[in-house]
Amino acid sequence: MDCLFCKIIAGEIPSAKVYEDDLVFAFRDIDPKAPTHILIIPKKHIASVNEINDENCAIVGHIFKVAAEIAKNEGVAEDGYRIVTNIGENGGQTVKHLHYHMLGGRSLQWPPG
Ligand code: 5GP
Ligand code: ZN
Repeated sequence: MDCLFCKIIAGEIPSAKVYEDDLVFAFRDIDPKAPTHILIIPKKHIASVNEINDENCAIVGHIFKVAAEIAKNEGVAEDGYRIVTNIGENGGQTVKHLHYHMLGGRSLQWPPG
């Protein structure tokens, strides 16, 4: 499949990895929007939240467990951070492989633009 993040998981495209296990891969965003900007993705290709179903939904809980661990390691857990997943055109999704942005290290605005 011609998917950028599947290639990153496979190591065909280099990335700054911060975490990996059997189910999940996490790496630094190439164009960081905050001092900490990490992408957490399932190894199994899921296009977006729109494709989450009974069969694959357990990965979401696992991703958030991993996120809590990464936040502690990055030193952002105490001050706070944001986890966001963009879906489709209006959501601003550019890569069609489910990913959760972890943004931290500065105060974030709300609502988003
Ligand atoms: P989206 O806009 O789909 O929510 O987020 C895609 C994210 O992937 C963007 O923040 C973008 O900077 C990041 N990105 C795109 N290509 C690469 C890449 O080759 N390597 C890394 N590490 N991040 C990428
Ligand atoms: Zn993929």
